[in-house]
Amino acid sequence: MAKQMTKKQKDALKYQLAHVLGFGERCWWGTYCSSSNVFTLDELTLDHLIPQSKGGSNNPENLRLACLCCNRSRGNSLFPPPQKYRSSSLNNSNK
Ligand SMILES: [Zn+2]
Repeated sequence: MAKQMTKKQKDALKYQLAHVLGFGERCWWGTYCSSSNVFTLDELTLDHLIPQSKGGSNNPENLRLACLCCNRSRGNSLFPPPQKYRSSSLNNSNK
């Protein structure tokens, strides 16, 4: 099983995601995110695209920065956060 990361390891990963891989200091779930999407690295969490409980790793390719709200609302899901989920597709009256 994956080991818990220390705060120092998490901070290093957050920095890598934001500034080395270029995701920036923002919530990865952008269009699903109901917040203003302006955060500091300290406010962002490491969100697993594939949850650790489903075999996801702590490698940067499986990690994205997400605000606590999005991270919590995903839980162990493989999918984006449910909030604002229906904002774009259901309202198409252009026929
Ligand atoms: Zn968010």
